Formats: sequence, structure tokens, C-alpha cells
Amino acid sequence: MNVNFLYLKKNYLSIKDEIDQKIFQILDKTNYILGEEVKTFETNFANYLGIEYFVGVANGTDALEIAIQSLELDNDSEILVQDNTFISTCLGIVYNNHKIVNCDINPETFMINLDDVKNKITSKTKVLILVHLYGLVPNMDEVLKICEENNIILVEDCAQAHGASFKGRKVGTFGKLSCFSFYPGKNLGAYGDGGGIGTNDKLLYEKISKIRNTGSIIKYEHEIIGRNSRLDTIQAGILDIKLKYLDSNNENRRNVAKIYYEQLKMTKEIELPKVLENVIPVWHLFVVKTDKRDDLKDFLTKNGITTLIHYPKAISEHGAFSNLNLFNCENSLKTCKIILSLPMYPELDETSIKYVCDKIKEFFQNNQ
Ligand SMILES: *Cc1c(COP(=O)(O)O)cnc(C)c1O
Repeated sequence: MNVNFLYLKKNYLSIKDEIDQKIFQILDKTNYILGEEVKTFETNFANYLGIEYFVGVANGTDALEIAIQSLELDNDSEILVQDNTFISTCLGIVYNNHKIVNCDINPETFMINLDDVKNKITSKTKVLILVHLYGLVPNMDEVLKICEENNIILVEDCAQAHGASFKGRKVGTFGKLSCFSFYPGKNLGAYGDGGGIGTNDKLLYEKISKIRNTGSIIKYEHEIIGRNSRLDTIQAGILDIKLKYLDSNNENRRNVAKIYYEQLKMTKEIELPKVLENVIPVWHLFVVKTDKRDDLKDFLTKNGITTLIHYPKAISEHGAFSNLNLFNCENSLKTCKIILSLPMYPELDETSIKYVCDKIKEFFQNNQ
């Protein structure tokens, strides 16, 4: 039996007619750049989140970079970020000539360690980029309290958490700015690159709308130095259709997770991910921990099961940042070596999940 890690084709086929029709409609209208579909999706996604404004951009990396740029911070500003995340979370800090202050994680929750955050706050700390890694959410009451007490701007990296919530409030509504990616494999994924920035701040909304479109909202009037980072009309049209299915897809992911929990709860060699109180996760990734990670991964591969590692290296370990003198974060460095992401997508069926779990149990029976 083969179990894919992701199965985008299955999802496409389930909505093919609607999607194909929309794409052909846009091809026919030829409004390829900032067509009305972009505005429609921006409005619908803002309403979905429960936020005033949303601006589509070219991808999630740009979203993070433009979000930081829009804040117009002093060059020597320090930005706190967790040490175990996708590199894009940090690229916008460097592009804008600010300083990455990498913080350790809480190994049980994979979320940023707030004690370490407190220790690393200085007079130059201006922003905390909070990552809702794997579709999980930290205690947002505590996060907001630290930001308020220390006058720190909260920017959320929601690239893995479309639709996740804390106390009924969706992620992406807590920060001054929130950044999303619509990369195909994300919970809300386009059929190419895409991203966007949410905010309740009208001035930031207007500034970001200009930055993404060469500094202009009125054609050929460029009031600020912008760039070209627009959400493509065809991608916006696709996203607007897929948005209707986001909640049911997330519900399916939670059902997949539920079966993993049931099947693996007696397997003591595996540590299952922990969801905090008041959180509804969206399981972008289902990440387990084991000291025998590499051997287990090989065994699963031999049995037709694809697994991945998110991420094999901490932020401080990347060559790209080797001259930045980043902190060594003990838990983050350790976690990289024991995490394994199991197959996870909304259409993953019970037979396949049980097969994965049976193979995991078989591995540990033979490797005591
Ligand atoms: C995917 C991702 C990004 C970057 O998004 P792209 O659209 O691929 O540029 C940023 N942060 C996190 C946590 C991500 O998972």
C-alpha cells in the first residue's frame, strides 16, 4: 500500500468543474492583473477571518517582508521569532535590515517559549513574529499580554493556520498585521504562488496596497517606493472557490488527527502533538516525536509511506544566517532531530491512516 504525504489532485478533482469554469472565465475576460476576483477574494477572506482589511500579495514570503516594511521601523530594531520555523518567517526581518532575535520553543507545544521571549526583550525590541506552526496556536492571552506590557507590535505568521482559532477568535485577527501564504500545499492553497496580509489598521492597509503595486493605487501615480507583488487574478479566483471548502477541509484534517491519536495513544515510544486549551487547531502538519526518528522514517518509506521533516534545521543552523550571531536554542535544536511529519491531508482515508499507524507499531515492536 502507498500513502502519499499530500494528495493535491484528489482535492482538485473534487471541485474540478467549478475551478475549470472559473479559470476559463478569467482567461476570457483577460483581467489578469488585479482583476475584480482579487478584490472579491480579499473581501471574502477578510470576512472569513473577522478582520477589516486583507491585501493579496504574490506569496507568503513577500507578505512577511512587506508587513515588516510597512511598519517603518528603525534599522537597528530587534524582532523576536521562534527558532523552529520555515526560513521565510525570518527573511523579511533581514531584507528590512532589522535584527533577528531567535527564541527557543516549548518542545511540548512547538510554540515560541514565552519565558525566553521575556528574557530577550531589550529597548530595541519592536516586533514579535508569532508563528502558528503546524496549524497549532499558543495561549494568545499570554502572547498579547507580553506584547502590550512591553510595547511590542504583534505580527502573526499564519501560513500554516488558515482557520485555526483561540477562544473562538481566528488567528490572523490578533496581530497588528497577519501574514498568510496560499502556497498549494497550505490549508488554503492556490494552484501556484499566493499570499496576503490582514489588518484592522486603515493606514497600514492603504500603505500595503500601494507597496504591493509599485507604490500606486491610482494608475501611474507612485507616492511611495513600492514593488511588484500582486496576487494573481486566476489564483484569487481559485482561492475564492477553495475558501468555501476551507472549514470542511479543516474538519476532515481534525478527523485524521483524531484517528492518529486513537491508534497511537498506546505507543509509548511516540510522543503525539499537544493541543493547548481553548485552541481549535487546523493540522497543517501532524508532527510526532521519537528518538528513533531516522530509522522510523526509513522503515515507513520502505513500506510505501511518505513522511517529511518540518524542519530538519533550526533557524540558527542555516548557512544563510551564519554571520548573524543567532542564539543557540537548546529545545529547538533538539526537536529538529526527533520530529517526523506523518501524512496529512483532508481526503486521507481511515484505511490509509490505520496502515500508517500499524507500520509505526510494527517498527517499535521490532526495535525495542
Ligand atoms: C509556507 C510558509 C511561509 C512562506 O510562504 P510562501 O508562500 O511559500 O512564500 C512562511 N512562513 C511559514 C511558517 C510557512 O509555512
